[in-house]
Amino acid sequence: STTSFQTSWRQRVDDAGAAAEACRGVGEVANYIPALRDVAPDRFGIAVANLDGQIVSYGDANDRFSVQSLSKVFVLVQGYRTWGDEIWRRVGQFPSSNPFNSIVELELEHGIPRNPFLNSGALAIADSLVSRHVSMESSIVTLLRELSGSAEVDYNQTVAESEFRCADRNIAAAYLMKGHGNFANPVADVVRSYCAVCAIEASCTELARASLFLANRGICPGTGKRIVPRRTAQQVCALMLTTGTYEHSGRTAFAIGLPTKSGVGGGIIAVIPNQGTICAWSPRLDSTGNSVRAMAALENLSAAACLSIFG
Ligand code: GLN
Repeated sequence: STTSFQTSWRQRVDDAGAAAEACRGVGEVANYIPALRDVAPDRFGIAVANLDGQIVSYGDANDRFSVQSLSKVFVLVQGYRTWGDEIWRRVGQFPSSNPFNSIVELELEHGIPRNPFLNSGALAIADSLVSRHVSMESSIVTLLRELSGSAEVDYNQTVAESEFRCADRNIAAAYLMKGHGNFANPVADVVRSYCAVCAIEASCTELARASLFLANRGICPGTGKRIVPRRTAQQVCALMLTTGTYEHSGRTAFAIGLPTKSGVGGGIIAVIPNQGTICAWSPRLDSTGNSVRAMAALENLSAAACLSIFG
């Protein structure tokens, strides 16, 4: 019931928020995207959702922020819905010890990105989603609106344009893939769409709700609609566990023990299989591009509520 969910999580969520206070001021906001430099760096929010879509939240959980790489989960899901297992011809399922914008392995592995949560991996899937009928960004915005139940979710044009102007590394990755035959469309068009999807803005509450299908065997609890097969939901979670926080992923699995996905806007989504989801957000990042306070809050919550998938 609503009451028991509230009672069991209220104190834990408050405690996790308080624990994350200890690292207030630690880290730097992403500054390579000019429009992201201006966010108030010490904001913090966290929302826990259960499979009924009930929410326990703390702090700035209803403020929208730039989702950045959190969008890669939804891009992958849309890629799977469009292409099924064919999508795995474009991108691998291997962890990487290199940063999210690295292109070194891409050359060594013949233009196939190691996983869908690297920039190169998301770009390859974005390329597969370009169609004449509907823009890639509007298909992802529509999916997020449906999953979150929030019709106002949208991308921020200013942030998208700002990122596109400094997208040299992503453009390089796309051309490298094109050179290896793993890119079909004009690079600038796909990178522009990719930047728009990264510039989607949503709140912790909306993102926790939008991720619930991953905790619910592929079915969105809000609409009852199947988003992906159960096995695909398991596989997306496996990739989140092993690659969702980039080169920090092993450490995240050790400290939190949940499938997680981060973005340089400071958001982190975590899936608690068969139970619910968590989204934490705070803009200051560590050197791997993961939010310092969101990570601290998730670590605290996972330990206190014994959330690790490893029993
Ligand atoms: N839009 C960002 C980029 O392409 C996303 C990176 C991230 O959130 N890790 O660099």
